[in-house]
Amino acid sequence: MTDAFLTFVADGPDRRPRDCRDPSWITARLHARDARVLPVWRDRNLVLPATDERGPAALALAGDHARGTLHLADEIVYLGERDAVHWFAADLSAREGPDLTPILGRAEIADLRDIGQLMEPFEAILLARARGVLYWHRRNRFCGACGSPTDSEQGGLTRRCRNSACGLEHFPRVDPAVLVHVTRPGPEGGACLLARQPTWPAGLYSCVAGFVEPGETLEQCVRREVREETGIEVGEVTYAASQPWPFPSSLMIGFTAVARTTRLAIDTDEIEDARWVTRARFDRLADLGIRLPRRGTMARILIGQWLDTSAAPPYPSA
Ligand SMILES: [Zn+2]
Repeated sequence: MTDAFLTFVADGPDRRPRDCRDPSWITARLHARDARVLPVWRDRNLVLPATDERGPAALALAGDHARGTLHLADEIVYLGERDAVHWFAADLSAREGPDLTPILGRAEIADLRDIGQLMEPFEAILLARARGVLYWHRRNRFCGACGSPTDSEQGGLTRRCRNSACGLEHFPRVDPAVLVHVTRPGPEGGACLLARQPTWPAGLYSCVAGFVEPGETLEQCVRREVREETGIEVGEVTYAASQPWPFPSSLMIGFTAVARTTRLAIDTDEIEDARWVTRARFDRLADLGIRLPRRGTMARILIGQWLDTSAAPPYPSA
């Protein structure tokens, strides 16, 4: 099984935090010829459809198109610079769909989860950042400490409470989540643990995953999630890779683990089903009514690596 590479792990643009402390620098970049604006609408990105030559592409607006879009935006965030091009994200979420018609042209409104793995890697991470950071801004317009309005600062790197008696600075939040590929040795090449949540599309199974809780290490989180959801105890836990997952605001941290027990005790409040699937049976998953997560996801990569243990790790190893 060849599952390509993790999506959203390419290097993004240079965020230039020192320059961003100067509001006039941001303003100058925004109105320069080398500015590009990426519109975001209600957690979805605007993209040009795939052609015979390429996958979906970011709608990157320049010149008059960019200025018209900025005029409609409620929030504008500096994403960074690469090769003398300065990238901005513009939030159009407050606009109704028809307001976007002049901006759209040939473009479509797309969910990045569906198309990220088909895009050029730098564009995929640009759109991921745009979506993720604007999601955070939209949900942090008021200070969590005193309830006063907040204002974006440093090109959108932070927000600050407008109440001078408070003045709290808020930083974008990322929620760490673990995903673990659990295996056990045995006949038919050993087996791996697949589980599904009741809200998922029919037949979709994946690795066990869950959010890290306060006061918990990543390894403890892995053991707890596997135990709580499936009743399985795991031994050694090994880090594999991490992946930004801005749907809406996670960092997915992938692990592999070897089971010390094999008897399943499923918590049906958390998951709908969990199964051991032997390596030999992966050739006929459809017969089992199982389909795997889409390409480019952490689960798919870890499963694929286990099935093809002779292959090099399909994620950055350095
Ligand atoms: Zn405040």
